[in-house]
Amino acid sequence: MAEKKNRVALVTGGSRGIGRATVLRLAQDGYDVAFCYQANQEAADTVAKEAAGSGARILARRADVSDMESVRALVRAAEQELGPIDVAVTAAGITRDNPLVMMGDHDWHQVMDVNLDGVYHLCRSVVFEMMKRKSGSIVNLSSVAGVYGHAGQTNYAASKAGIIAFSRSLAKEVGRYGIRVNTVAPGFIETDMTAVLEGKTRKEALASVPLRRMGQPEEVADLVAYLASDRAAYITGAVLQIDGGIAI
Ligand code: NAP
Repeated sequence: MAEKKNRVALVTGGSRGIGRATVLRLAQDGYDVAFCYQANQEAADTVAKEAAGSGARILARRADVSDMESVRALVRAAEQELGPIDVAVTAAGITRDNPLVMMGDHDWHQVMDVNLDGVYHLCRSVVFEMMKRKSGSIVNLSSVAGVYGHAGQTNYAASKAGIIAFSRSLAKEVGRYGIRVNTVAPGFIETDMTAVLEGKTRKEALASVPLRRMGQPEEVADLVAYLASDRAAYITGAVLQIDGGIAI
């Protein structure tokens, strides 16, 4: 009898935070997982080792999501090592916060290049194969800032709003090929990205959250894994907020 093959997932930004938790969760769920990181090889090696403990095949590779060639090479390597990609998750993201009046051009473009172009690069690189196989699930990480806006984050919020419009449009394009495209919009999640919130700013942020705590990366990974899976077979084009009620 032929050996049963695991499904294959590819996660960007898997070395830390939400991407890391997603890699570990998908590996536990029985996927073989490829993931990329930008610079932090030590963190990536640790994640790869931990994820492989679930019995999954893991590929960790350095790639810059803002560069199309780098993403294409990542996808090629993942397909060669693990097989066709069933699930793609875009978790790589950055912030370069400043009020618009003080925003540097470089900070505007860098956030767009990584957050929005990064999503385009990965989706563009995997979608044709998914169309040919008439199956696939894509989950893109946006943010509540992309839904409601956030002072000091015009660049970040614009990139995250772009991800929502991109994902909904793609969901309309590829639904007929059995491909689902969904967006997860987290609020304050306890990762390196929010570690910069300190003292009064952190207190004020938490006061705006009805559940009065930050979310954990594992809680977001749980939602991503659900959307990626067949349990969400009739969900596409959705924007699911996971934010402790911040938007109520
Ligand atoms: P994080 O802890 O700062 O981790 C960022 C990850 O992205 C790291 O793995 C980093 O790799 C990778 N990365 C950054 N730039 C990259 C690039 N150019 N190419 C490839 N990988 C790159 O972030 P997080 O808090 O987990 O956030 C994950 C996603 O959720 C982001 O899209 C973020 O915007 C979104 N989000 C987060 C929150 C929150 O409160 N944390 C809220 C809403 C939305 P290295 O380790 O190599 O640097």
